[in-house]
Amino acid sequence: MKHVVILGAGFAGLEAAICLRRKDYRVTLVSDRDFFFVSPTSIWIPTRELEFAANCIDLKELQEVHGFELVIDRVKAIRARDGEVDLASGARLSGYDHLVVAMGMEKIALPGMEHTLSICGPPENSLKIRDRLDALVAKAGGKIAMGFGGNPKDSSAVRGGPAFEVLFNVHHLLVKNGLRDRFELTFFAPMAKPGVRLGEKALSKIDTFFSRMSIQRRVGKKILRFEPETVIFEDGSRLNADFIMYIPGGRGHQVLIESDLPTTEAGFVRVDDQCRVVFEENADCPASVYAIGDSASLEGPEWRAKQGHIAEVMARTAAFNIVAADSGHSERRGHRDHLNVLCVMDSGNGAAFVYRDNNHGVVLPMPFLGHALKKGWLRYFRLSKLNRIPRLPGM
Ligand SMILES: Cc1cc2nc3c(=O)[nH]c(=O)nc-3n(C[C@H](O)[C@H](O)[C@H](O)COP(=O)(O)OP(=O)(O)OC[C@H]3O[C@@H](n4cnc5c(N)ncnc54)[C@H](O)[C@@H]3O)c2cc1C
Repeated sequence: MKHVVILGAGFAGLEAAICLRRKDYRVTLVSDRDFFFVSPTSIWIPTRELEFAANCIDLKELQEVHGFELVIDRVKAIRARDGEVDLASGARLSGYDHLVVAMGMEKIALPGMEHTLSICGPPENSLKIRDRLDALVAKAGGKIAMGFGGNPKDSSAVRGGPAFEVLFNVHHLLVKNGLRDRFELTFFAPMAKPGVRLGEKALSKIDTFFSRMSIQRRVGKKILRFEPETVIFEDGSRLNADFIMYIPGGRGHQVLIESDLPTTEAGFVRVDDQCRVVFEENADCPASVYAIGDSASLEGPEWRAKQGHIAEVMARTAAFNIVAADSGHSERRGHRDHLNVLCVMDSGNGAAFVYRDNNHGVVLPMPFLGHALKKGWLRYFRLSKLNRIPRLPGM
């Protein structure tokens, strides 16, 4: 039985593990936490719309259903050319036939970022944001600023959607509590047109949301640093707020940057269309190496984005190609033809369905129904990953 080691149990790693177990591979899945965190729906934890536990799936439960080996440990070092992975506990993984890297990404640090919290940080951050919001609601007034940054070295590593979603949900929470007129909400970002990758139609929809919800905008100015309760912009202007949520731009995972894997300027592992790591010509590795999801470089149009469903496409691509290579078939699959941006941007009491690919751009307002649909997706995701209901093709 061929043995695959998968590093990271997020969208990419879990999907690869499931696909390869179905093909009877021995799979070892390494994760630094014992649960799968459903990040797209974590936007509801800060406003208490969703309990933290309801947004997690126990990896042990997934292990029992799919039969992979689970190692809860932190990957400390990867030496692909020696076929070795070192874990924080001191254990070493070696002798595998294939290595799949799926450890997500890290964030670009700005000075003073400790004065902010990000919904895209460690899962526990969602609870810290919730506590800060609770305190402000108890005070019955204040200023809240939420925004995101980019990475000039890689336009795919921007995570803006969750900033919009949390802000809209906070607005909705304050309206429900009869407190909206006692709060000032401000959105901030360094880009002149934050969210433009979703397409011009989506951008104008976001603008409509901002105006309708009386959310102020501070955009187009580089963020220099943060101080307690303050955002400082390049031109010296300041934005004061009792609570600041800031989602930094993404960069490669430090363990991957320090490994012998080839990385881009932004620190993402260089892969080809088949999701195979692109080593220089004379590199000799004892096992084949793939990188998928947020850890991997994503080549394609300017609007491309690192997203959960793209991570799963890359996982299925890598799994297919691993199986094809082992069984001597010449067919290979690529992920680049499947690039699109897809999101159900939640606003607390509705959502906008946004889709973009090379040929189409769709924005569909879905009052009430959109919110329920996203809730339904979380349920579908959990049950289908646990094999309790069949999976819909491509989802
Ligand atoms: C708040 C939020 C909302 C989002 N909304 C959407 C959305 O609506 N639609 C969408 O498509 N995408 C969305 N995304 C993006 C999506 O979640 C990511 O693109 C996706 O999670 C990438 O999957 P991944 O497996 O590559 O990385 P991750 O899901 O980040 O998984 C990486 C895994 O590796 C583990 N890991 C990291 N370092 C180590 C280590 N040293 N040792 C062992 N394990 C390690 C982590 O614990 C984690 O489980 C959202 C993200 C966030 C944070």
